[in-house]
Amino acid sequence: MALTGVQIFKLLPKTNCKKCGHPTCLAFAMKLAQRQVELDLCPDASDEAKKSLGEASAPPIRPVTMGQGEKAVKAGEELSLFRHEKKFIHPTVITLGIKDTESDDVVAKKIGDILSSEIDRVGQKLRIDAVAIINESGDAGKFDKLAVSVADKLKDVPAIICTSNPDAARLAIAHFSGKNPILYGANAVNADAMAALAKEHKAILGVKAEGLDALTDLVEKFKGLGIVDMVLDSGAKSGKEIIEHNTLIRRAAIKKGDKSVGFPVINFVERSNPTHEAMVAGLCIAKYGGIVVINSAEKWKNLVMFAIRQNIFTDPQVPMQVKQNIYDIGAVSASSPLLISTNFSLTYFIVSGEIENSKIPTRLAVMDCEGLSVLTAWAAGKFTAAKIAEFIKESGIGDKIATKELILPGYVAILSGSLEDKLEGWKITVGPREANAIPAYLKSRAA
Ligand code: SF4
Repeated sequence: MALTGVQIFKLLPKTNCKKCGHPTCLAFAMKLAQRQVELDLCPDASDEAKKSLGEASAPPIRPVTMGQGEKAVKAGEELSLFRHEKKFIHPTVITLGIKDTESDDVVAKKIGDILSSEIDRVGQKLRIDAVAIINESGDAGKFDKLAVSVADKLKDVPAIICTSNPDAARLAIAHFSGKNPILYGANAVNADAMAALAKEHKAILGVKAEGLDALTDLVEKFKGLGIVDMVLDSGAKSGKEIIEHNTLIRRAAIKKGDKSVGFPVINFVERSNPTHEAMVAGLCIAKYGGIVVINSAEKWKNLVMFAIRQNIFTDPQVPMQVKQNIYDIGAVSASSPLLISTNFSLTYFIVSGEIENSKIPTRLAVMDCEGLSVLTAWAAGKFTAAKIAEFIKESGIGDKIATKELILPGYVAILSGSLEDKLEGWKITVGPREANAIPAYLKSRAA
């Protein structure tokens, strides 16, 4: 169970020496309780404190990493039931299942669907993260053939090997050895063989049970066999069961510190109707699914899942931001206009989109205002004449343009006079209030 700030405080030296960068041991203890700092920052912590806090600070849901390199993905490590309490940590791993009963054409199409799934949405790269090969036939030879093909064509895509047949698993996993795959399908019958294979190939074990009681018994069994990294399938299939089981598992792990369910959940949501499948996948993303395995990856469906995932896994307490910079939109020249805005993502994407629509090459100065929109940033004293002048001067943009003119958002027209005073040699122009008026405004200037 997680320790409270006061319980942690009792374990600290209580000298208030400030070496950890906090004014008091109590302040540091409170940060530790919120998992915002590491105990290592206190050089005088006793061995007893390290042991107690180390155990207590281990995440209630063990993190697992699938795959290697840039495309590796993590699940688990979650700390909260509700994202208004704390951000959900690792976005649900969206995985496309490929069965060994499917034709070569279907297999080739699904591989292509994974490779072409990446999209850029609000500045983030989103894609189908992983592949699951499924031994639907029960035939070890057929499964091995599929494993060879997938390992060859999806080299760096994290993989889940799904079979309850240890012989089929033995053949297939050899093609993913050293790539942190998940070996899914471990149950009470094949426990010893699957545990041995997972250990031999350093795989995460996917434990499959029928119901929550059977699942906790199995997890304890695999712990006894020396397995540390697992993902859990309670056997939930319907939407109702998925919500119930995923919630009970998450609640038991986080609120009760129940280590027998302290692992990421994997949900298989195959449906014959893609719309229905997208809906159930969305439900898993919203309700604690660490990994969701789907059966088809149409682009429209991906977009639905990606958008849900992106919304669930952003921090509601931190506005989405883009980097402070001067962005060139189109083939800009020295005479292109220069607009300024704040770094709230939504503002940036709307304004830059309207500039693109105008087809007039334009520079957009995006100023760091901690992710606030223009009016909010102005009201909060973060988008002031002094700060804008400082940003523009430090950017050096004045040396790259023919006419030193800065176009302000119309909502902060009030800043134009004081900005002209602070930005010597610059002309300050008031632009449109609404982004949708930008194309007409830029075109009228160019005419
Ligand atoms: S470094 Fe340790 S002893 Fe010093 S104030 Fe921080 S927590 Fe207390």
